[in-house]
Amino acid sequence: MSDCLFCKIVAGDIPATTVHETGTTLAFRDINPQAKVHVLVVPKAHHEDAAALGVADPQLLADVVATAAKVARLEGMDEAGYRLVFNTGEHAGRTVFHAHLHVLGGEQLGLFGR
Ligand code: 5GP
Ligand code: ZN
Repeated sequence: MSDCLFCKIVAGDIPATTVHETGTTLAFRDINPQAKVHVLVVPKAHHEDAAALGVADPQLLADVVATAAKVARLEGMDEAGYRLVFNTGEHAGRTVFHAHLHVLGGEQLGLFGR
């Protein structure tokens, strides 16, 4: 999609700090980190959100989760633990309409909620 921010990052038209790349996914650092380590994993193909991705291409959703696990290993947080988040819709504060998995960690994280 030509006007999608994350499609532009995947295409290399907007710079991002890549952490890991596979044939189907890209992992890059969030521009406004909410934890010591905050990486976004996106499918290279455009899908609106996680639910749509899971219906249209379950294998690709699995690829995104596998890349998140690889990022956790690369960032040295697979043993201490980390958090995976898909925001969906307005109440979750979602701002980018290309499915993305937040990988958060590198420190003790706070509880869920407001
Ligand atoms: P959402 O709230 O939609 O789940 O998350 C979107 C995330 O994308 C936010 O955490 C935000 O900081 C990040 N983000 C927005 N624009 C950019 C950008 O241009 N580059 C990078 N690396 N991250 C971005
Ligand atoms: Zn897109």
